[in-house]
Parts: sequence; C-alpha cells; structure tokens
Amino acid sequence: MKLIDSHCHLYDMKKYTLPDEILPVVVGYSYSSNMKAVKIAKDKYPYVLGIAPQTAIKSDISKLNEWVEYIRQNTPNAIGEVGLDYKWPTKKEEVEREIAVFKRMINLSKEMKLPLVIHSRNNPSDNNGMPKNAVRDILDMVNNNNILMHCYSGSEEEAKEIISMGGYISIIPMRSKERKKVINTVPIDRLMVESDSPYIGRTPESIKDAIKYISEIKCIDFEEVATRTNENAARFFGFDLS
Ligand SMILES: [Zn+2]
Repeated sequence: MKLIDSHCHLYDMKKYTLPDEILPVVVGYSYSSNMKAVKIAKDKYPYVLGIAPQTAIKSDISKLNEWVEYIRQNTPNAIGEVGLDYKWPTKKEEVEREIAVFKRMINLSKEMKLPLVIHSRNNPSDNNGMPKNAVRDILDMVNNNNILMHCYSGSEEEAKEIISMGGYISIIPMRSKERKKVINTVPIDRLMVESDSPYIGRTPESIKDAIKYISEIKCIDFEEVATRTNENAARFFGFDLS
C-alpha cells in the first residue's frame, strides 16, 4: 500500500526523488506554481490548483481572469490551496484582496463541481486593527462546499463544525496541545495526513510522523490509520486507490 500525502509542493523541492511508497497530491498556490504542479503531476499524480491568500496579499490581481482560465482548462482534482490568511496583512486592502480572490475560488469550485482545499491562518496579534479569526470567516463563506482544511490550526470547536458540514481535516507532522485535541475529536473517517513539504515537513515521507501521531492518540495501529486516511483522500479528491 502506498501512503498518500494529501498536500505537498513537490515542484518546490530541489534534487529530491520521491520514493515509490508515497503517492503525493501536488498542490499549487499561484499562477506560476499551478503551472509547475501541472507539469510535474499531470497523468501521474492527483493535483490541486488555486490562488492562495498568500499570493493575493502580495500580487497585483488584475490577471485573475487569466489565472482562473488556466485552472479551468487543466481540470484539477480540487481547487486549492485557497482561503484566508490573517497573519501577514498589514493593510485593509490586502485583506479585501484575499476575500475577493477566495470568493472567486469558491465560485469556481461550485462551477467545476470540485472540492476546496483550504489554507487558514488566524491573526496572532490582538491590537493591529486587522481581522483575527480566519477559520471563522472561512466557515461563514463556504457553507455548500465540500472542504478539506489543510494544515489545520483552528480550535476543537471549529473542528466539530467542519465535521458537521461534512468536511475533512488534514494533520501535519507537528505536535501541539491543540492538534492533539483536534485529532481526538475528529473521527478517523474525516482525517487525512499531509507533509505540506517542503514548508512544514521537509519531504513527503514525513507524513509517517503524522500517521504515528494519529495512531498514538486514537490507539489505532499505523497500518489502519494509513488505510483509512488513504480512503478519505481518494474519496475527497476523486481518484481510485487501485
Ligand atoms: Zn501548502
């Protein structure tokens, strides 16, 4: 059985050879990374295309129509990574740009009948006049979509809400008190594992640490966690496990 890394940026990894035991879901975040994702993954691996909030913050988005057209023509397995990131903006316009791009991505996912892979990051500061809870705002915007919250760092309460909407949560290879609560709360048929490599895990193999983490907390053996998270990924991204 191959292990599915439900979120990695394979094209950003230099001099790396993917081992046979891993099936990566290759994710873009900008027009240029979407092109790299297609190039590396088409006819080989599942791939996900989208314009991320990190891109919306720092770019001129006047070419958004062209970027959307590229996604449409390359029929990905899901739209992503997209969402809201409240950690980096220092101006209101940056937040507005993120919201405008995210709305467009939500509409695109509805039009293409594809699920959404969502990036969310809350604002760690209390007093900079910027919005704080990105997870909350996202959940208020996505009500009819099939969603995967990638690199989830929201609360246990919000995790419950995501599950009740029929959504999924993916677990990175990093341990924290809050993540432990989330793993405890979310049923195994709603979890996936991801490396987010090279940005969080260094390589896709690091999903083994995420599988181990779930296995310890839920007292389910490694193989079973891998099988179940694989099934969830295949169901969500719409590919065959055989
Ligand atoms: Zn990512």
